[in-house]
Parts: sequence; structure tokens; C-alpha cells
Amino acid sequence: MPTETHIQRAFEDLQAVFGNRVTISPMHRMAYSRDWSPRHRSAQDLPDLVVIPHTTDEVVQLVQVALRYSLPVVPFAGGTGMGGGVAAWRGGIMVETKGLNQILELDLQNLSVTVGAGITVWTLNEHLARHNLWFPHQPESKRACTIGACIGCDNDSTFGIRYGKILENLTNLVLVTGRGEAVRLGHRKASFTSTGYKLMELVVGSEGTLGIVTEATLRVFPLPQTRQVRGYLFRSLNEGAKALERLLAAGLAIDSAHMNDRERLHFYTHSYREKYHREPEVPDWAEAILFISWAGDPDVVEFSMDKTTRILTEEYGAEMVREQEMVDGWWDSKHRLEFIPFKQKWPDSQRVKKFGAADLGLPIGRLDEAYARFREIAAKWHQDILGMTVYNEAPNKATASISFAVFVDDSTEESIRNFYEYVREMSAMAVEMEGTMSSYIGDGDRLGGFNALEHGPSLEYMKQVKALFDPAGIMNPGKKFDTRWLR
Ligand SMILES: Cc1cc2nc3c(=O)[nH]c(=O)nc-3n(C[C@H](O)[C@H](O)[C@H](O)COP(=O)(O)OP(=O)(O)OC[C@H]3O[C@@H](n4cnc5c(N)ncnc54)[C@H](O)[C@@H]3O)c2cc1C
Repeated sequence: MPTETHIQRAFEDLQAVFGNRVTISPMHRMAYSRDWSPRHRSAQDLPDLVVIPHTTDEVVQLVQVALRYSLPVVPFAGGTGMGGGVAAWRGGIMVETKGLNQILELDLQNLSVTVGAGITVWTLNEHLARHNLWFPHQPESKRACTIGACIGCDNDSTFGIRYGKILENLTNLVLVTGRGEAVRLGHRKASFTSTGYKLMELVVGSEGTLGIVTEATLRVFPLPQTRQVRGYLFRSLNEGAKALERLLAAGLAIDSAHMNDRERLHFYTHSYREKYHREPEVPDWAEAILFISWAGDPDVVEFSMDKTTRILTEEYGAEMVREQEMVDGWWDSKHRLEFIPFKQKWPDSQRVKKFGAADLGLPIGRLDEAYARFREIAAKWHQDILGMTVYNEAPNKATASISFAVFVDDSTEESIRNFYEYVREMSAMAVEMEGTMSSYIGDGDRLGGFNALEHGPSLEYMKQVKALFDPAGIMNPGKKFDTRWLR
């Protein structure tokens, strides 16, 4: 941990550059003491200092100060991460990245935008909409989540089934490494390259452990004219996945597809009953609900919707959800972020119990098996099941990025430990089922203690990569290769 003398000296050096944009006040440090990952309700990880840079050059200067006094450097964006990625449990300098929020260039000819990495996905899209454009990489947390954090934790997007993950539309970035240097990585405005090593790709999902992303150049797209959303009920999750693969093969204008298990389905029917005081017509055999949206020109969307319904009902015995209000309510709460106070799980239920998840990437044909094992493992660790959602995150493929969500009681240390034991056992299951332990949250401070399970000897190569970018080991220490929860 940093010494008091080093912190004081670093504070003075930083004040010379940042003036009142650096603070050691406990109140400010407290505001950066946690993210949305489950932990005891009174737990705090206080950084020693908080700095708000506005330019890449300022980030370079702050990393140089950190190197001088061997202080950890932790980038903080929206603080909505679910893996403890911003927890400063080894103290150090917290870097508030939202000051890096400029639109640096909008190139309409090449459909490309260059931004400061601290801009939120929401604000970027507000700018783009004025030009009838959008950046379709959109996690549900888009109001808070920054472009730098999307790169940092390689998160999921509502529209992944058409546009993929962020790497698909990221063409270059600037990284301030742990050496205190700014390097530009990637392929300018071209969509791909066959030259050099793909260093930009290494930064995606690196969670601030190689450096701080300060700028990013992104491919943007014309806004679709219209979008429609419907829900379909299936007898099993595997059947829903097979049907989705069939729809993609048919070439329909699908831009999102999310499948939910029966727990989640019951949550939606319950909300519908509460709101409309009517019983929804959902058959007993329904084990899964697949929400699909189509986007594009109105006639293409209309055709795609009709064809989808025909394929799903005639070839797969699925049933379309009759209560369209239920489907629209789901879409509004998750994707338009229009919350009805005290009715939805986000964010009101957070006051009572915390949302927690194991986020696994699995082969697409093993959903029913995964669901059965999820129930067993959750029961073993006394987890209160919220449900399983399958997101699709690669263009034109049914892929399973799965949230196995539970409600976490954060009032006792024991229940927090049980949650992380649950995550560990689910992670081991993912590897056994030929998948991956995390598909959108990242390692954070959760998985490091046992990720040799997934990476084996390649973990040593990863540590060498880290040492190349960050020889002094100051960039977000305690993440990726460590876990603080299970000893
Ligand atoms: C209500 C809600 C809905 C959510 N929906 C989704 C969803 O749909 N899909 C999904 O995948 N996740 C979702 N999440 C999880 C989370 O929002 C995302 O993972 C998101 O990417 C975190 O963004 P953030 O800006 O809050 O990052 P933070 O939590 O502040 O940081 C996340 C990680 O990125 C690193 N980082 C931040 N900025 C930089 C930078 N400039 N350079 C390098 N590293 C950096 C941090 O150090 C940390 O390790 C949701 C969370 C909530 C609370």
C-alpha cells in the first residue's frame, strides 16, 4: 500500500498540473469507493487521491507522477461495472475519465467518429442523432457507461446480433500505458488490418491493467427508419436458439434477440398482472421467451416480422406473445431506459437486494443443460434466482452470452462469500462445458484466483504482456490475476 509521504508528495506534484482537479478529500474519495458488484453494503475501497484529466497529455503526466511514487492508477468511468473493476483495494490514484468527453472529429464522409474515451454511449448517440447516425454498441447501462469502459471491460450490447461487440466497430485508440507514454493502436479509419501485431485488440477487455484509453475512433451507422419488437414463447431454450439460427439463415432484418428462461418470463407476467390487473395468456408449456427486434426501412421490417412469425409458429410450434404491452414494457425499461418507479427490477429492487450475476459464454447447443445446472449450483450456495438471459453478441450468429442472475443479500459477509462461491462454481462449469467464465463483465477482482482453469499455461504469457505495457505493475493492480473474495 502507498505510504503517507508518497501520497502527500504525489498530491503536491499533481496539484501543479491539475490545480483543483485533484483532491484528497474523503467525501470525493468515497464517491469512487465501489461499483455495482455485490459486496457488503458497508464496504468501501477508498482511493488515496482523485484526479480529473481533460486531455491525453494530462493522463500521461499523472501516470508519470504515479510512477515516481509507485502509486496504483485506477481508471473510473460510470461505476456500473459488476466485477469490481474500479475497486481501489490497493489505494492509489483514481482517474475520473469522464473529463475526457470531447467529440474530436466527426467524419461524415467515412462514417467515423473520434471521441475522448470518457464520453458516455448515450451522449455520443445524442450528438450522432443530429446527423441521422448512431453508434449501435449499446449496453443497457448506456446513460452512465463510457466508450473507454466498453473497451475496458468488453461488455455486451443490445444490438450485438447485428453489430457485434465493440471491437467490430473500433478502428483505433490512444492508450496511455503504465510506462507513462501515449501510443496510438489500431488501423486509423480502416475497418481491419493485416499488418503488425493486433495490439489494439489486446486492450479490449484489459480493464485498465495495461493503461488508460483516452481516445477512440469508431465506425458509425445511419439510423434505421423504424424498429418493431415482438416476443415468442418456446418449449425449451435450445429450441429457441435453433429457431433463431433458422431466422438468421433466412436473412431477416433482426437487430436484437434476447432469450429468457421461465423465471424471467414469470417476472414479466407478474409485472403485467400488477400493472394491467389482467391475466396474460401464457401457456403452461412455455419454458422460454425470445424477444426479437427488427430495424430498417418500414417495408423490410414489416416483411421480416411476418416471416419471423410464420417460421416460428409453423416450423417450431412457438407462440407469439399476445400482450404486446408486456413486450413494449420490457423494451422500454431495458433499452429506452424508461423506468416506472417501484415497478421494475432496475433500479428499485437494488434498495433491498443487489443484482449479481455469473456471466458465461457457452456453446449455443447447451442452453437447457446449463439452465438445469444453474438451478442446482444456485441452490447449493443459497442464491435466490432472478433468472437466465441469453444475449447474442456476434453478427448474424446465435451466440450465447448468458447472464445467470441472482439477488444477493448484501447484509452479511457470509452471503457475499456464498455469492462468490456460486460464481466460482458456475465458472468451472463454463470451462467444463467448453465455454468461457465471463462474456461481458470481465475478470475484475472476482475471477483471478481461479482463471488458470480457463487459461492454463497461457496465463503466464498474459502476465508477460502486462509487464510489457506496465513494467512497474501500477495499472489497476489486484484485477485479472487476483481475487480478493476466495482464499
Ligand atoms: C443497470 C445496469 C445495466 C447494465 N447493462 C449491461 C449490459 O446491457 N451489457 C453489459 O455488458 N453490461 C451491462 N452492465 C454492466 C456495466 O454497466 C458495463 O459492464 C459497463 O461497461 C461498465 O461501464 P462503466 O462506464 O460504468 O465502467 P466502470 O464500472 O467505471 O469501469 C469498468 C472497467 O473499465 C475500466 N475502465 C474504465 N474506463 C477506462 C478507460 N478509459 N481505459 C481503460 N479502462 C477503463 C475500469 O477500470 C473498470 O475495470 C450493466 C450495469 C448496470 C448497473
